[in-house]
Amino acid sequence: MTPFANAILAWYEEFGRKHLPWQQDKTAYKVWLSEIMLQQTQVTTVIPYFERFLQHFPTVTALAEADQDEVLHLWTGLGYYARARNLHKAAKIVAEQYQGEFPLTIEEMNALPGVGRSTAAAILSSVYKQPHAILDGNVKRTLARSFAVEGWPGKKQVENRLWELAEEHTPATETDKYNQAMMDMGAMVCTRSKPKCSLCPVEALCEANKLGRQLDFPGKKPKKEKPVKETWFILLYHDNQIWLEQRPQSGIWGGLFCFPEHNAADITAQLDQRSVQESHIEELRPLIAFRHTFSHYHLDITPVLVKLKQTPDLVMDGSKGLWYNLSVPEKVGLAAPVKQLIDSLPSELNEHN
Ligand code: SF4
Repeated sequence: MTPFANAILAWYEEFGRKHLPWQQDKTAYKVWLSEIMLQQTQVTTVIPYFERFLQHFPTVTALAEADQDEVLHLWTGLGYYARARNLHKAAKIVAEQYQGEFPLTIEEMNALPGVGRSTAAAILSSVYKQPHAILDGNVKRTLARSFAVEGWPGKKQVENRLWELAEEHTPATETDKYNQAMMDMGAMVCTRSKPKCSLCPVEALCEANKLGRQLDFPGKKPKKEKPVKETWFILLYHDNQIWLEQRPQSGIWGGLFCFPEHNAADITAQLDQRSVQESHIEELRPLIAFRHTFSHYHLDITPVLVKLKQTPDLVMDGSKGLWYNLSVPEKVGLAAPVKQLIDSLPSELNEHN
């Protein structure tokens, strides 16, 4: 065992996290669910989602049999919805091709939708104590600093070097504890902006610490200005109900329910398409515009509230639509800005009454 691994394991015994919900009565299903939720999301945010999911879907088979709308509904607020769609797809594969038992080899685990090499390794080491190295964001940061690995980990060459280090230092025994310790170290000690080097078990070994260059590692992504796109949301409202339409499965917010959208300031065509005539409209006014930021671009959204005198028969060609009751909300997945607007709607309506 390397001195680095020794120090990490000794630290884990005293300070590592051992009481997270998915660490109790461990199963591959619980650990897989938590690992997918933890991609891009912090532990404190994940815990209530994890518990709700487990309550609704106690087994992978129950998740596989659920309606996609229900899965997306429970995911609402966690973001990165491709994770939820992949979670559902993977559950179906496990239920149908593996009779409800997760596969035991890294290759098969890695082949499940949404499960990359590091996630597969984390599950198999945690549940079955298999000796696989992991390399998530926290581990990348700790290794890049400890061994002064220059460059942005998004570059293949840098990532390969980090994998080499991960393999070199991951012990063949107690891999479950070591991997958990590395995740905890990154989250609790070797944090992004203020690493707590004086509390760190590898302080004496750490190259970045010796150089006083902790914040130079890992290297930053080369900066590119994010483009700005614009859209308008049409909030068709009548009698405490708001009209939502399901988006296609591919593209942003795939499978989630959203307001009808249009890309030019003239909304007449969109209203016509939905057979909303001028005589149906009681009031039409823009609400305060806001920005939603994706990883690749900013989206400036102008919501337009269209209060109707009656609930028209809105029939959409080829897409699923529903009148969403604000008091008795339907269990469907909502995109984050849609949820935000729905939550603010009662006060918006009250102010103008
Ligand atoms: S000494 Fe500091 S920079 Fe180095 S691994 Fe520990 S916390 Fe991170």
